[in-house]
Amino acid sequence: MIESPLLDKLTGYIGGRWSDSSEGNTFDVYNPATGEVIAKVPSMSEADVVAAVEAGKSALRLTSPYTLETRRTWLEGIRDALREHKEEVGRILCMEHGKPLKEAQGEVDYAAGFFDYCSKHIQALDAHTLTEKPKDCTWTVHYRPIGVAGLITPWNFPIGMIAKKLSAALAAGCPSVIKPASETPLTMVALFRLMDKYVDMPDGMVNLVMGKASVIGKVLCESPDVPMLSFTGSTEVGRKLVVDTAEQVKKLALELGGNAPFIVFDDADLDSAADNLIANKFRGGGQTCVCANRIFVHEKVADAFGEKLAARVNKMNVGNGLTEDVDLGPLINQAGFDKVKRHLEDALANGASLVAGKEPEDLGDGHLFFPPTVITGVTRDMCCYREETFGPLVPMALFRREEEVIDAGNDTEFGLASYVFTNDAERAQRVAAGLRFGHCGWNTGTGPTPEAPFGGMKASGIGREGGLEGLFEFVEAQAVPRGF
Ligand code: ADP
Repeated sequence: MIESPLLDKLTGYIGGRWSDSSEGNTFDVYNPATGEVIAKVPSMSEADVVAAVEAGKSALRLTSPYTLETRRTWLEGIRDALREHKEEVGRILCMEHGKPLKEAQGEVDYAAGFFDYCSKHIQALDAHTLTEKPKDCTWTVHYRPIGVAGLITPWNFPIGMIAKKLSAALAAGCPSVIKPASETPLTMVALFRLMDKYVDMPDGMVNLVMGKASVIGKVLCESPDVPMLSFTGSTEVGRKLVVDTAEQVKKLALELGGNAPFIVFDDADLDSAADNLIANKFRGGGQTCVCANRIFVHEKVADAFGEKLAARVNKMNVGNGLTEDVDLGPLINQAGFDKVKRHLEDALANGASLVAGKEPEDLGDGHLFFPPTVITGVTRDMCCYREETFGPLVPMALFRREEEVIDAGNDTEFGLASYVFTNDAERAQRVAAGLRFGHCGWNTGTGPTPEAPFGGMKASGIGREGGLEGLFEFVEAQAVPRGF
């Protein structure tokens, strides 16, 4: 069992109090590196979730809103608490997710960055008066908190994803009911422990419920007191939330699946492209929505690029994230492992070949460690091209012409992240404009940051997180014309 000063309470949190399941149910949390159960946490009931929504409602202030200064203090308090406890929060994160300790602690810093950004830009949410006087009135535009927000997060960034949502919700003055993924609830409990101890927020401003997605999702979708849901996860669940909230026309912010193209032209700096691909692809064990999923390499440089990748991949250490010098941890669970294996088997059976890694029959003897693997000769009919693999498999497909690779990149229902490597600036501009993706890295595999808007086109989602666009997600503009 995990021991941590930040986990002395292992319950939900409702209306400013640590709160157990009213029905006494629990679920187990595992360390994917060892298979051990590291904690039991409450699986909360429908009544608990309703209580959390009620608590949120009681913290909402419309007629006498929390001032910008008050909200800034909350954001700064969470930022400082995260930075101060980065090591321990990162250790908890590493143990329930599996990613290397340094990477996990880096994620805590990344999360703190969102609270910092919102605290520094909160002034943008202040009311302003229009310079024009339409209809002889003076118009003031206010940014009102939308109300109690349901925040639903996935397991791949246990602190990063909640930071993106909660920072903007608190900046807007919105109370929230938060549901972490059942694979990684402990990092969220640790965050609540920090907020409870170090940040002076009104009771009910932040509420934590854990347990079955069907139970919690139902209340959040059906309650008229929750006018907005912000969700990060699969497109499949995102679609269900669209349907389940249609009756009430709720506001949705959805960050869904990806199928990122990573395009390497023959004039690119191949070493830099290979380094960027390794950093991008193997972050979180390849289990991120911005991980390159289809690597398009110009045919003239495909062999050279494959060799560079193999040289890098063969040096990577796979193991328990708590061990020093580990580059790649385990996959999150057996289903995740099986999916990557299936993609590898399917590709090899249909004509792709192995550049680095193991044959499928040499994989897996009960553990979740999947070796970094590179294959080439990938085509559009293969599973690894059409679906998001969510694991350390690098599939290379070859191309010849610029228009052909833009079409191939867009040949997916998703539109989240994309990357293009070329030393020709005009080509980079053309390709970025042609790719229907919310994020397009030019000569970099870097992903989202607190300062810039991030989100998907097409089936990758609705709305943005980060940047001023993300800051405005939880407010509703209200125009107040004043006559004389
Ligand atoms: P992943 O494949 O990354 O686990 P999911 O979309 O399955 O993505 O889950 C993301 C988050 O959404 C998790 O917290 C999960 O428990 C939650 N979730 C899954 N189904 C529902 C649902 N029907 N309603 C609300 N939340 C859900």
